[in-house]
Amino acid sequence: MPLTFDTNIQYMRGVGETRAKALAKLGITTVGQLLYHFPRAYEFRGNIKPLADAENGEVAAFILTAATDVKNAALKRGMTLGKLRAFDESGSCEITFFNQPYMKDSIVKGGEYRFYGKVVKEGGKCLLSSPVVEPVIEGKALAPLVAVYPLTAGITQKLLAKLVAAALVELGDAIPDVLGEEICRENDLCAIGTALRSIHAPSDFKALEIAKKRLIFEELYRFALGAGEVKKKDVTAPALADGDITPLVEKLPYSLTGAQVYAVREIAADLASGVPMRRLVSGDVGSGKTVVAAAAAYIAIKNGYQCAMMAPTEILAVQHYTELSGLLGSLGISCGLLTGSVKGKVRRELLGSLSDGSLNMLIGTHALIGDEVEFSRLGLVICDEQHRFGVGQRDALLMKGGGDSCHQLTMSATPIPRTLAMFIYGDLDMSPLNEMPPGRQRVETFVVNEGYRERLNGFIRKQKAEGHQTYVVCPSVEEAEIGEVTQEDIRLFDFGYDINEVMLPKTPPKAALTWAQTLDEALPELKIGCVHGKMKPAEKDAVMTAFASGELDVLVSTTVIEVGVNVPNATLMIVENAERFGLSQLHQLRGRVGRGKAKSYCVLVSDVKGGSTAKERLEVMRTTYDGFKIAEFDLGERGPGDFLRSGEDDVRQHGDLRFRLANLCEDMELFDAAVRAARAKREENLLTEGKKS
Ligand code: ADP
Ligand code: MG
Repeated sequence: MPLTFDTNIQYMRGVGETRAKALAKLGITTVGQLLYHFPRAYEFRGNIKPLADAENGEVAAFILTAATDVKNAALKRGMTLGKLRAFDESGSCEITFFNQPYMKDSIVKGGEYRFYGKVVKEGGKCLLSSPVVEPVIEGKALAPLVAVYPLTAGITQKLLAKLVAAALVELGDAIPDVLGEEICRENDLCAIGTALRSIHAPSDFKALEIAKKRLIFEELYRFALGAGEVKKKDVTAPALADGDITPLVEKLPYSLTGAQVYAVREIAADLASGVPMRRLVSGDVGSGKTVVAAAAAYIAIKNGYQCAMMAPTEILAVQHYTELSGLLGSLGISCGLLTGSVKGKVRRELLGSLSDGSLNMLIGTHALIGDEVEFSRLGLVICDEQHRFGVGQRDALLMKGGGDSCHQLTMSATPIPRTLAMFIYGDLDMSPLNEMPPGRQRVETFVVNEGYRERLNGFIRKQKAEGHQTYVVCPSVEEAEIGEVTQEDIRLFDFGYDINEVMLPKTPPKAALTWAQTLDEALPELKIGCVHGKMKPAEKDAVMTAFASGELDVLVSTTVIEVGVNVPNATLMIVENAERFGLSQLHQLRGRVGRGKAKSYCVLVSDVKGGSTAKERLEVMRTTYDGFKIAEFDLGERGPGDFLRSGEDDVRQHGDLRFRLANLCEDMELFDAAVRAARAKREENLLTEGKKS
């Protein structure tokens, strides 16, 4: 059978069951997904220099002739060190290979090779250690740019490159094109085949740029096609005339902020209008979105409807339930909690009261969209942290309330700049909560480098001594996640970032699992837990709960804790390799602390150099506290990708939300064009649907 885009990767020559399993960890289960597994960087091996011209520390390529064979010497613990001498017209050097005894067979005396790596010139000596080696073959050009892929255990760079090349040859022109000729022509984009060939094996920088443009456009287009809301004309929704929330406000121990009052007023007007509400409440962590949601629920319920509220994690659902069942319960409204762990009789009774209409409000996780969940009169659907759900999940919940005619309120803790929100969400109305409740403390923020490690550990101890807790966030789960590349980062040409600033960390990026161990050794008297997206939800919740209840002193994690968990007793947030996070993401993380009365701190650990843009970005974090301002800065600096991208952890849960290229996209115009093309397409779809019915 010929290979197609949808062929299971297991059936590709050279894959098989074991490798298929490993590839699945990278999100590759079909040939198409293999081709959309883009390089994370490129090695620029086209920069060929005479040996004599290379400076100490420079990373470059050299065409050299081997003057000797490789001689392997045994080191301790079974390791080897191979050595040879090689030369070009300008000079000679010594080349060493650490633990690569097979180099003896790859290099023959007198042969010509391209060596790529870092040169060390000291005391008149010239040394290349463990360079990449490729034989120079007559009539065969050496690729100037070589892809570096994200890897996982059992999958090497070589294997991926080989599979991709084979797939591209076998598929030929049989690659589906989501954009179509017209959109490509209008936006000056290359064909999909060309783009995929160039992204994996670019013939030069220009070809890479052209491929990137097409693929970024496509990525944004796909996103916009699924994410935005297009209000359907002529759809009516129940008009909920009674919008008086005075009884609810009287129960609150505080008065609403101006922004909250305004948002509630807009919501009440939407609900009374007879047109389905499609509103997004967006505001910083702590800006008080929950009470706005409570007001919306209160109006819906008072007018005789039920309300459903969906949160992305169990722990958040429980928090909402605890808060809202207290507040709404005091007003005679019944609330239920439905998550995966609600089982047996309790579950049956809950679902029964839901379908017979005696339960007013149901709060839960995506368990709410289960088939057996039936409402009697669902009139309003609320989604917290909406970007954590796929469009499919949100739609599924809406369907329980009649689909298009059901009112919908979504909440987002990512302060999205208005310009961007208009692009992304189309017809969605927006209420920004751009005013913090009074008396909020400011989380004092520091930017430090590795030199402060000891003091930082002391600071963690101090929090504990004062009865408080610490979060530590790392950029990745385990070292394998970044593959074998950490050591190689030095010779990477990474598109999108300035190599000197971001790609040259003095220490490899911290991985949550190993870092938790390191901290455990450094702080033996403290109880340290670790949580990351590769854990099962139940395991994750168990660790989170242990931290929330104070059993753990330190929680080491990836960005899973970005989601609005509330542990008021945590007073210190440490972010490792802070330069690897988007500003808006850092802002979110900082919002995890400063939730209680005690003074709180955020420490951004990074070895980036002073005077670099990466350092400047961190300075913005140190001096700015307004989420909307930070978001605007981020948008100007890094483009829209950061707002669209979800953390490392949802990659697995909602593959469709993953941005591979566009998170580096700096081109607002391209973004604008992609979103416009997508909206045109959606309107076209709606028209054809309309004609059918
Ligand atoms: P978020 O927007 O992050 O979801 P929450 O709704 O969880 O924020 O609110 C954070 C905290 O602020 C809660 O403890 C809530 O009771 C409190 N809060 C909300 N609104 C106000 C207000 N207007 N004045 C004082 N405290 C408020
Ligand atoms: Mg919240």
